[in-house]
Amino acid sequence: MATYNTSARKRILSFLKEHAQDQYTIEEIIQKMDGEHLPGKSTVYRQMDRLVRDGLVRRAVQGESRHFLYQFSGGEECETHLHLRCTDCGRLFHMEEEESREILQQIRSLRNFSVDQEKTVLLGRCDRCAKEKMKP
Ligand SMILES: [Zn+2]
Ligand SMILES: [Zn+2]
Repeated sequence: MATYNTSARKRILSFLKEHAQDQYTIEEIIQKMDGEHLPGKSTVYRQMDRLVRDGLVRRAVQGESRHFLYQFSGGEECETHLHLRCTDCGRLFHMEEEESREILQQIRSLRNFSVDQEKTVLLGRCDRCAKEKMKP
């Protein structure tokens, strides 16, 4: 039983890692992973809770709805760069470590202020949603 759950966890995590720029509801994950012999829905929910608690997956609420969206977080890797979140679609973007460092250094030298990189998420609108808005 334990090993069964562990491998479910691994498969869910590797699926999210492969699609690190996108986020999904649990239903979508189950749908997209169909054929990979996922355990029952309740197991997926339970595994997802653990992944969120372990900092490997981020959970966000989708707009006005009460749907939870899940996205790969990268855990410790993500402590080394800034993130951008689109407030329209909710996707999270991981910046390059070097880009982040440059921005933070600039703020530090201009304002004498050390930004907490881990806790800071810049909010805005992604490329895809900006284009969407341009449509008549
Ligand atoms: Zn990241
Ligand atoms: Zn967007």
